[in-house]
Amino acid sequence: MSSRKKTKTKKPATKYIFVMGGVMSGIGKGITASSIGTVLQSKGYRVTLMKADPYLNVDAGTMNPTEHGEVFVLENGLETDQDMGNYERFLNRTLPPENYMTNGMVFKYVIDKERALGYKGKCVEPTYHITEEILRRIAIAQKKTDAEVVVVEIGGTIGEYQNAIFLEAARQLKLKHPHDVINIMVSYLPMPAKLGEMKTKPTQNAVRQLNAYGMNPHMIIARSEVPIDKKRKEKIAYMCSLPIEHIISAPDVNSIYEVPINFEKDGLGKALISLLGLPRKKEDDTLHAWKRFLSKKNNPKDTIRIAIPGKYFDTGDFVLSDAYISVIEAIKAAAYHEQVEPIIDWINVKDFEDRPETLKNLKNYDAILVPGGFGASGIEGKISVIAYARKNKIPYFGICYGMQLMVVEYARHVARLSGAHTVEVDPKTQYPVINVMESQKEHLEQGIYGGTMRLGSYIAHIQPKTQAYKMYKNTVITERHRHRYEVNPEYIEQLTKAGLVFSGTSPDGVLMEIAELPATEHPFFVGTQFHPEFLSRPLAPHPIFTGFIKAAKNKKKSK
Ligand code: GLN
Repeated sequence: MSSRKKTKTKKPATKYIFVMGGVMSGIGKGITASSIGTVLQSKGYRVTLMKADPYLNVDAGTMNPTEHGEVFVLENGLETDQDMGNYERFLNRTLPPENYMTNGMVFKYVIDKERALGYKGKCVEPTYHITEEILRRIAIAQKKTDAEVVVVEIGGTIGEYQNAIFLEAARQLKLKHPHDVINIMVSYLPMPAKLGEMKTKPTQNAVRQLNAYGMNPHMIIARSEVPIDKKRKEKIAYMCSLPIEHIISAPDVNSIYEVPINFEKDGLGKALISLLGLPRKKEDDTLHAWKRFLSKKNNPKDTIRIAIPGKYFDTGDFVLSDAYISVIEAIKAAAYHEQVEPIIDWINVKDFEDRPETLKNLKNYDAILVPGGFGASGIEGKISVIAYARKNKIPYFGICYGMQLMVVEYARHVARLSGAHTVEVDPKTQYPVINVMESQKEHLEQGIYGGTMRLGSYIAHIQPKTQAYKMYKNTVITERHRHRYEVNPEYIEQLTKAGLVFSGTSPDGVLMEIAELPATEHPFFVGTQFHPEFLSRPLAPHPIFTGFIKAAKNKKKSK
């Protein structure tokens, strides 16, 4: 062996953090995992974030967003849980598909392998073959991202059946690498109004449940309405066998972007470094950049009102904001950088369908956005909103379905194609200006819905001297997609003659990716077939959202 080889230092072991929820769901486990990523990244470590979801769905694409939240599309097209969007935003980085798994994905792989005699006659067992498959996926994600620290968020709450196999995998990994794995429990401390005191017992019980799986948390993130005091920290530390500095306070905040800063204030970074035995590294600018972003957010010079029309019935604001989380975060990011506070109103288009005279209430808005969607629900109302925005020169931004409906509106009212429609809603329309993509026909006929849309990143070419070019300052862009329908090539000439500009197309010129009206006709009337919200980051807002917000600011000024 050469002497050089002998002195070569051993690559430090990869570290793993499992983030799991105690007491109840909906307490911000995803934001916690994301913020742990941000803090560690700021300390100079290469971090990656993974999500392990308990569903049997093979991906999140077939789940209803009003029940489960947004479907977040990764660069390669994998349809995932909205937390993947939080991870990309908080790490300011694109993540590979290996960073997402569901029980369905894991079980399907193992069962398919078993059917192909892949286990060579062995009895295939959940607590070995499934857990090994989970760990194999974690190892691949680590390799793909070259991460020094892998954070795996386990969906669901400790104590339920559904996610137990992921917890078991975490236990097994700890057994294999005792010094390199830690568990963080995100718990909730209720403060019953009558008692006026924060209670720790549910957290103690959640830890007992984790104990029953053969594990103890190494750190507890204590979510509550207010910061947790020393007395309660001591109590949890004592009852749950943890040093007090490993109980981190996580009070409710106005903005999720305060979480990494708060964690750092309460010593999270230091505690993690010591728990994981990480070598000291040089801190980077990340947390300072977050602080600058927050200070812009906290010092708005004005407010702008944005209407998001849809057909909302049983869904409250809470559910809606989950279903459109990336759109909302993209609006916020662009607005905060432009130093305005966005006020978003969910507009029920049913009112406009029943009483068209109420449309004029839209004049109170500085901008209107129609996001992606599917099916016939509320469509005529949305089209009348788009017509109102066009005629009254209110900045309009249509995303995916919002772009397709903008084309329908223009076809009907300007290109004189009365009754024009998308075949998604009216398959027999005389003027099918939005048609099913050729490549999608087969999937629809055979009912193969899972993962078959036009998904993920595609390049588009931008026409110079257009609104799109003004924003992108580039003729070649890459954006993420999720759709089955497209602008029907047979109507492009007619629509263009009528004044609609297709300023972005697929490189071969066949697919219309951006539609707009020229600046001389309308301050901002832009639709994108793709979803720019998936690429917006708090520290790097998306140029189209920035353009939209600037137009809204101008609209307000001109009032
Ligand atoms: N329903 C439309 C389509 O499938 C739009 C999809 C979307 O908005 N994501 O093309």
